[in-house]
Amino acid sequence: MTRVFNFSAGPAALPEPVLRLAAEEMLDWHGSGMSVMEMSHRGKEFIAIHAEAEALLRKLLAVPADYKVLFMQGGAIGENAIVPMNLLRGRSCADYIDTGEWSKKSLKEAQKYCTVNVAASAKDSGYTRIPPRESWKLDPNAAYVHICSNETIGGVQYHWTPDVGAVPLVADMSSDILSRPVDVSKYGLIYGGAQKNMGPSGLTIVIVRDDLIGQALPACPSAFDYKLVADNDSMYNTPPTYAIYIAGLVLKWIEGQGGLAAMEAHNRRKAALLYDYLDTTSFYKCPVAKADRSLMNVPFKLKDESRDEAFLKGAQARGMVQLKGHRSVGGMRASIYNAMPVEGVKALVSYMKEFEAQHG
Ligand SMILES: *Cc1c(COP(=O)(O)O)cnc(C)c1O
Repeated sequence: MTRVFNFSAGPAALPEPVLRLAAEEMLDWHGSGMSVMEMSHRGKEFIAIHAEAEALLRKLLAVPADYKVLFMQGGAIGENAIVPMNLLRGRSCADYIDTGEWSKKSLKEAQKYCTVNVAASAKDSGYTRIPPRESWKLDPNAAYVHICSNETIGGVQYHWTPDVGAVPLVADMSSDILSRPVDVSKYGLIYGGAQKNMGPSGLTIVIVRDDLIGQALPACPSAFDYKLVADNDSMYNTPPTYAIYIAGLVLKWIEGQGGLAAMEAHNRRKAALLYDYLDTTSFYKCPVAKADRSLMNVPFKLKDESRDEAFLKGAQARGMVQLKGHRSVGGMRASIYNAMPVEGVKALVSYMKEFEAQHG
């Protein structure tokens, strides 16, 4: 068996010890005689798995007691609709900060439910930076302010938490949740699909402050009403049980690595290896402003794009896969989430140097 270095943006690489443990437990979880996949979500075994995953998530992110942690389905794209349906609370407008492909998707979906005020946009910079807070034109009557903490496609990430006063701050953290410590108390709501940094696809995490729930639009589907989901311990309908189990194993792995501060140090080290090299060469180019570069997704282009295919082929031959950039931006993208070891990034940089020496 050979494992590759998988730079996929998502679904993405998972920690190898997690996959090994899941394989070991596949047929018989802890003497239950069952796979987790075969368990009733109402049975004591799965309830314990679910409770442990939630407790670990709360502990790692230091989630305050007045926040609910919900395990949902529908992905972050589902949440783009579910958030306004739950959080408008009688208001007619929400603020959105437009930093790239994902925030654009979020605000387009929200337009089905309310007036969207694009309070700031990075469009004129070609989505290569986060608009500075001073430039935001927030609406004081907005129901919430929405940001995407890490633009997975553009490789642009917030390295600060916006102060938006009393209006709840909502963040799509799909691609950087659990990559660094976060002060949850500064947010009204955090959501994200699990498949980037937390587990398999199919599970969506929502962390929401208590006072914001219970006022969903009448048309909001019951399964997506945060209050109903919370009152039923995320079991209003059948939750994605196996994805929750794997996420629990990932959370335990993160705890074993030293928690989120250790994860951040690990992620900073990896990102620095790549960016430091990108800054010394003109053979490759990273378009993102230095202060706003993502620690999770590193986009770069070859100066001569006619060599893209050869670059990708050579990477594949060396066991490095999924480096092709998103179809909307082209070029390359290395996604280096928590589970990517430093060795993977070292191998990539070393290959990039070798390719430059050959073709530069
Ligand atoms: C991947 C991603 C999404 C899409 O999530 P789905 O699970 O496919 O709905 C949305 N936002 C961000 C920031 C992402 O990285």
